[in-house]
Amino acid sequence: MQILHEHDLPMSLRVITSLDKRRKVYKKVGWLYVLRNRALSGSYLKVGMTSKFPYHRLAELSKSTSIPTDFELVYYVHVGHINHAEQYAHSVLADYRVSKRKEFFDTTIAKAVHAVDTASRIFPLLIYDKNGSILSQPEQDLKPKVLRCTSCSTVNRVRNLLISVRVKCANCAEVIIG
Ligand SMILES: [Zn+2]
Repeated sequence: MQILHEHDLPMSLRVITSLDKRRKVYKKVGWLYVLRNRALSGSYLKVGMTSKFPYHRLAELSKSTSIPTDFELVYYVHVGHINHAEQYAHSVLADYRVSKRKEFFDTTIAKAVHAVDTASRIFPLLIYDKNGSILSQPEQDLKPKVLRCTSCSTVNRVRNLLISVRVKCANCAEVIIG
C-alpha cells in the first residue's frame, strides 16, 4: 500500500485542515461536491456540501444509503461558507430539483459544475491574518486542464472532472477523451 505523504494531499484539504476552526471566519469553510450514481435513473446528480473532504463524505454516503452501486465523485470546489454556497448552487439548479427534501437534480454535469463553480466564486474560501485582513485566496484543486486534439492538435481548455469525459474539439469536433 502506498503511504500518502503530506505533500500528496490535495491543497484544499491541507489548507482547510490547518485553519483554526474556533475563529468565526472559518466556522463554515468546506466543500461543495457533485456526485453521480449509475444506479439512479436518468441523469440524477447529487449536489451538496460537506465540512469533511469530499472523498470522505463519499465513503459515508456509499455506506449509508441503500443504493446498490457506489456514488462517484464528479467534481468539487472549496468554499468559505458551505451553507450559503450550497443554497446558492441549489437555487441555480432549482428547476432541475427532483424533490424538495432531497439534493438530487435531473440535470447535466456541465450545469451542476457551473453552479458550484459560481457558488465558489461568490462565497470564496479566504485566508485571513489575525487582524482579519485577507491574506490569500487558495486556488481550487481542480483547475481547468488542457487537452490537445489527437486529430488537429488544437489545444482545448476543459473542466477538470474526476471522471472520464468525452469532449468535442472546438476546432474540428473530433471527440477527445479527457
Ligand atoms: Zn481537433
